[in-house]
Amino acid sequence: MAQGAVEYAKELSNGKGIPIVLHLDHGDTFELCKNCIDCGFSSVMIDGSHHSYEENVALTRKVVEYAHQFDVTVEGELGVLAGVEDDVKAEQHTYTQPEEVQDFVAKTGVDSLAISIGTSHGAYKFKPGQNPKIRLDILQEIEKRIPGFPIVLHGSSSVPQDIVKIINQHGGKLKDAIGIGEDQLREAARSAVCKINIDSDGRLAMTAAIRKVFAEKPEEFDPRKYLGPARDALKELYKHKNINVLGSAGHAYDK
Ligand SMILES: [Zn+2]
Repeated sequence: MAQGAVEYAKELSNGKGIPIVLHLDHGDTFELCKNCIDCGFSSVMIDGSHHSYEENVALTRKVVEYAHQFDVTVEGELGVLAGVEDDVKAEQHTYTQPEEVQDFVAKTGVDSLAISIGTSHGAYKFKPGQNPKIRLDILQEIEKRIPGFPIVLHGSSSVPQDIVKIINQHGGKLKDAIGIGEDQLREAARSAVCKINIDSDGRLAMTAAIRKVFAEKPEEFDPRKYLGPARDALKELYKHKNINVLGSAGHAYDK
């Protein structure tokens, strides 16, 4: 599967004139990371955050030692995010402890670090009535200890309420789906945060577009007629994120 992903990514990036990375998200074993590196991925994440601190350090170090021989960069994780992503599930946040980051980065040699400051995987990040804020104070503490070191945020969808509304108006049942405000992400993006993972918003945008076609044209059965609009909606969404939230537009460069 990893090999297929590499071929597909190469094909897609061919002749586009922009640098493209192929990154493994939430690799949970050394073997999986090694397999992806051997197949040609440009970066991998080793998520050892569910292990003890010492085991996380040892596992991450092992992946870094292997990856760096091939010029592949490695993202590690400290602290546990709440939420569900594929088969990664945690009930509660364990915030990253700023006291640990310096030691972790030094001992493992990672190139970037995913931290837990209140973002979470999925579309239900906060309960109704809860203060939907991430802990930018912890981010600042971490930055003070490892100035300029690339920080990563996972689970950073904003769950746009206009999109949720379209889904629910067309037969969907997403109750109390709440995300991270785009203003908070903009603030994080201005700091040492260099990558912000946004997935649920893309899922929501595609679902809304497909549900709309199904509700408005129940006679439609050509996948091109509903997957096309879904793809357009996805493109629009990420264009908006890139330009207005992440401030990444126009920043692509080849090394
Ligand atoms: Zn993630």
